[in-house]
Amino acid sequence: MKKLMAANWKMFKTWDEACATARELIEFVADNLPEDREVLVFPPFTAVKGVAEIFKAAEGFSAGGQDYYIKEEGAFTGEISPAMLRDAGAVYGLTGHSERRHVLGEQDAFVGEKTSFGLACGLKVVLCIGETIDERRGNKVEEVLERQIRIGLKDVSAEVAPEDLSVAYEPVWAIGTGEVAGPEEIAEAHAFVRKILISIFGDKANEMRLLYGGSVKPDNCAEIIALDNVDGVLVGGASLQGESFSKIVLAR
Ligand code: PEP
Repeated sequence: MKKLMAANWKMFKTWDEACATARELIEFVADNLPEDREVLVFPPFTAVKGVAEIFKAAEGFSAGGQDYYIKEEGAFTGEISPAMLRDAGAVYGLTGHSERRHVLGEQDAFVGEKTSFGLACGLKVVLCIGETIDERRGNKVEEVLERQIRIGLKDVSAEVAPEDLSVAYEPVWAIGTGEVAGPEEIAEAHAFVRKILISIFGDKANEMRLLYGGSVKPDNCAEIIALDNVDGVLVGGASLQGESFSKIVLAR
C-alpha cells in the first residue's frame, strides 16, 4: 500500500502561485519519488485545473478538490460538483475537514452525504475526522471518532474499492497550532479507526489508508509515518512551500 502524502492548501494561493508550487514540487520530488509514496495536493478550486495539468507529467502525483456539493448540477449558487472537479482534473475529494465542520458548521450527516456522493461520482475520497480538545479532555475521543466514521460512511457502498476511500485522523487541537499529537495518541486513535472500519467493511478495511493530520512538519514526519496504521499524512501549513512539503513527502 502506497503512503498517501497529501497537502491541503486551504484558501491560499492564486493560480500562478499554486502552479509555481506544483512545479517546484515536481522539481524537488518527481525523480526521487519512492515506489511506496503517492503525492496528492488539494489546491483552492480556482487552481485545481492548473495543478492537475502540471501533475499530468509526473507519475504518482494527483490533485483534489477541498470540498464539493451533493448534486450533479443545479441552482446551488457558489457550489461545485464532483463532476466539475473531475472535469478540472481532480482525482480526489476531501470531506469533513475540521474547518468545514467547525467554521462552516457542517454536520456529520452532511459530511456523510458528501462522502458517499463523491465516491458514487467517481472521486476518491478522504474523509477527515477528529476530536476537539474539550472532547479529548472529557474522554470522548473514541465516541466522537466512532460517530464521525459511522455517520460519515453510512451510505458508502460495501463494494467500495479500498484504495478509493481514506480516512484522515486530524485532532482539531493539533491543526494549525504547532501542537502535534504524540506517537501514542496517534497510534491509539489509528488502531481504533481501523477497528471501526473493519467492523463496517471487513478485511478490506486493512487496505484503506489512514492519514494523520495536525502540525506535520519536515522534522516530525518520519516518526509519524513509521507508526502502525499510519498510511500517510494530510498537511496544511507545512505544505505551502514546495521545499518543505517535498521534505515531508520524502521523509523516512
Ligand atoms: C490541515 O489543514 O488538514 C492540517 C492538518 O493543517 P496543519 O498541518 O497546518 O496543522
